[in-house]
Amino acid sequence: MKKTPKAMRVHIGLFGRRNAGKSSLINSVTGQKISIVSKVPGTTTDPVEKAMELLPLGPVLFIDTAGVDDKSELGKQRIRKTYKAIERTDVALVIANDRWDHYENDLLERFKDRRIPTIVVFNKADLSRPSERILKKLSAEKIPFVITSATNGEGIRELKELIVRLAPQTALNNPAIVSDLIPPGELVILVTPIDPEAPKGRLILPQVQTIRDILDNDAYCMVVKERELRDALDRLKRPPALVVTDSQAFLKVAGDTPPEVPLTSFSILFARLKGDLPAFVEGAVAIDSLKPNARILIAEACTHHRVGEDIGTVKIPRWLRQYVGAALQFTHIQGHDFPEDLSRFDLVIHCGACTFNRRQMQSRIFQCRQAGVPVTNYGVAIAYSLGVFERALEIFPEAKEIFLRMKSLQKSKQPVA
Ligand code: SF4
Repeated sequence: MKKTPKAMRVHIGLFGRRNAGKSSLINSVTGQKISIVSKVPGTTTDPVEKAMELLPLGPVLFIDTAGVDDKSELGKQRIRKTYKAIERTDVALVIANDRWDHYENDLLERFKDRRIPTIVVFNKADLSRPSERILKKLSAEKIPFVITSATNGEGIRELKELIVRLAPQTALNNPAIVSDLIPPGELVILVTPIDPEAPKGRLILPQVQTIRDILDNDAYCMVVKERELRDALDRLKRPPALVVTDSQAFLKVAGDTPPEVPLTSFSILFARLKGDLPAFVEGAVAIDSLKPNARILIAEACTHHRVGEDIGTVKIPRWLRQYVGAALQFTHIQGHDFPEDLSRFDLVIHCGACTFNRRQMQSRIFQCRQAGVPVTNYGVAIAYSLGVFERALEIFPEAKEIFLRMKSLQKSKQPVA
């Protein structure tokens, strides 16, 4: 259970003022000393994460955040990170004591706007209790609350039960990666180039997770490099149910895979798993509207070391420039630092986000929508710019329909010669 990737855990965020007892509460719920507890306000600086199993929910990740009332210069940066943590929170705990004012109300508003299930926890009950007025207000607004003491254990069991009840099933039951696309007993071929950019001695997370999903569905797979694909296909008595390729090998793989065999990419599978495939299709079609010097944000969820012909910094910019036929301006970011102001970009291209939970990727898509900036992901953009889009979407009829509709709309807008 400890090996469950972070991205597949329900993320439970603890938010509140400094010294509200967030860290001691997390230690009490987890039964372990993972956060530093101190009477000095502001002991938690960067969000602290702790993975554990919360039965009967399963694997979860607690996020202990810095207090939202820190007015110091450093405090502003900590609060920024605290608010960033909201983007990946599946269940929010607002930790309060006997005080209740705009800090708590502001947190509740933020969670309501993002439709994040929220529990108010009145901690330190051994020292003071919340007022009846606040409890009535929360009851009237149907916001669940619990009174706890991390010191004597009061309410901790009730809190765990509330979390289990509120944890959204969507966080646990993410869409399938590939298992709903292939019947049990069928073969999938996975094409994974082993080039200098590939990590030494292992496959990357999306590949590993796809293999596991196939096995979970009683299907089976063959993993090949792009050079061996044609030979592997020739040796089969019947064609595979699906070929999934790394996006970088799309053109060669499309050439070697018979047209009647469905073909897609890991990134397109992850566009569906983490993101919003129809929205990403619309984002890819927006490539056609890019003007010379258009500004494109390339965002990666993890901070891997870039080497050689890196996909985000070298290959995608090259393919896009070739497709658009003009110079383009690229900005690259990695990790949790997604820009707050997206309005200066004409397009956002995101990686497959295999290290993010679904909530975090959805938050980024939401942010792009709010800024009116089209968003797509690596695999979707690559398939589009390499001209293999329709084929890659064949197994996703809804997404293909959107693409065909947008193309016909584009054509109808073109001036008649
Ligand atoms: S760049 Fe994105 S898709 Fe690739 S390994 Fe990192 S998080 Fe996963």
